[in-house]
Amino acid sequence: MNPGQLKLLELLKADDESGVIRFKHRRMLIFDADAMGLLRKELVETLGLERARRILTRFGYACGYRDALTSKELFDWESDDDWWAAGPRLHQLEGIVQVRLLRAHMDRARGVLESQAEWLYSYEAEQHLKHIGPSDSPVCWTLTGYASGHSTAVFGSDVYAFETECIGKGDGRCLVEARATTGLSQQMRALLEYHRPFSFEAEFQHLLNELEGRGKELAANEERAKALESHVLYLQEAIKEEHNFEEMVGASPALKRVVQDIEKVASSDSTVLICGETGTGKELIANAIHARSSRNNRPFITVNCAVLQAGLVESELFGHEKGAFTGAIHRKLGRFQIADGGTIFLDEVGELSLEMQMKFLRVLQQCEIERLGGTQAFKIDVRVLAATNQPLERSVAEGKFRSDLFYRLNVFPIMVPPLRERREDIVLLTNYFTQKFCSRMRRRICSIDSASLERLENYDWPGNVRELEHVIERAVLLAEGEVLFIGPLGRDERSAIGAVAAAAPAQLRTLQEIERDYIAEVLRRTQRTIAGKGGAAEILGLPPSTLRDRMKKLGIK
Ligand SMILES: [Zn+2]
Repeated sequence: MNPGQLKLLELLKADDESGVIRFKHRRMLIFDADAMGLLRKELVETLGLERARRILTRFGYACGYRDALTSKELFDWESDDDWWAAGPRLHQLEGIVQVRLLRAHMDRARGVLESQAEWLYSYEAEQHLKHIGPSDSPVCWTLTGYASGHSTAVFGSDVYAFETECIGKGDGRCLVEARATTGLSQQMRALLEYHRPFSFEAEFQHLLNELEGRGKELAANEERAKALESHVLYLQEAIKEEHNFEEMVGASPALKRVVQDIEKVASSDSTVLICGETGTGKELIANAIHARSSRNNRPFITVNCAVLQAGLVESELFGHEKGAFTGAIHRKLGRFQIADGGTIFLDEVGELSLEMQMKFLRVLQQCEIERLGGTQAFKIDVRVLAATNQPLERSVAEGKFRSDLFYRLNVFPIMVPPLRERREDIVLLTNYFTQKFCSRMRRRICSIDSASLERLENYDWPGNVRELEHVIERAVLLAEGEVLFIGPLGRDERSAIGAVAAAAPAQLRTLQEIERDYIAEVLRRTQRTIAGKGGAAEILGLPPSTLRDRMKKLGIK
């Protein structure tokens, strides 16, 4: 039997009755080439090119291997070379490709198998170009698989076929070479993986490794997030500590009433309106309410309505979508959304424009916000605390503040007393601030000069606790010994005349006090140089000895 004598119709037995076509005992199928092309396309799309290539190469391998076994059974070949040559012939009869053998050499004893062939009309290259398009690498995957499988069956050990040229990658023809393992080039070895069985285990392991990698990445991200979270908690803690202590400073009945109000309202979700002059510590009160509420592990967000930029109020409070207005390059979360689950504190709420008041009222009523340029409303769960240093009732009467918003905010008003109405707290606050600034500036101060203390207690403190804090900070900074001296208080404390002009009758001071403060200040500026050019004596117009006497008399060290 000679391979050239094989005829397709003689090989196949088709039984129209049963619909079974046989090649010897093997059942054969006739497929539409396009259906195969579409199957290939789906494989590439779902598994990727590499995996699809591997599967189709293995599929071709099975076809070739089985064809070799069947033809061995079916025919009596004169030589193994004929048996081998039947492969290309069968491949051609099956309609896959026309094969033109260029050379073929097989020597089992020496383990050598080498052949080269040209493939014409490769159905696979046609289908690949049709459904997937031109490729960077050869595309006749089932064909090379077939050649490998058939040759392996004949040769008795592994043979691999590779395309060195392929129509599918733009070459003028498909050129295939087959080699036994001993004859493989380095380049061929690199392509062997496409011939290996598609292993689910290996594939699974690969996926597992990938998952593990992703898992590690996720864990690292989680770690980073946790670090940031604890950093935030630490900062919140730091803020709380500072505030908790400061709000506790004071024992006056006026302050106690405020603390009682805080205790009463903190655990509810009521809106609170905190009223008080500037510098009375309204934000501390808001913080204390948040800290004592069930929301204390959620954000506390402060918005100072007086410093919000006119055109940006809405985007600041409610956020905006990308492209909502010129300059809105990214989507931005508003303060309300950041505060979700927590508390928002609107300081200087009386400064909101009427337009914003209306939008704000809507948020309070509906508990939802809409981002600027957005079409979707977001539910939010935020407790609102507001503060004002101007009587809102008056703003309402003047038509500057919506009455409905005022009533909505004024559910539970807390009046924070000015410092002049709780003078008994001045000493405690002074001690507290002195300690705070001493530890911050690494100073040591043991006592406060009694005249200075009297001055502090008699002053009217228009800037309230904040003003006191600044005065003490400056005094600690300027202090030279272990006793704290407070200079003149008021709008222009550097000028004795200014102090007199600004002072209430109770604050007017003796000439001796002013003299002492003045000398102390000059000494401070001259770094305690008394005599000589630029010294304190020259500035004060006194002989150095006279200045020393005065200092002794006034108790300046
Ligand atoms: Zn090809």
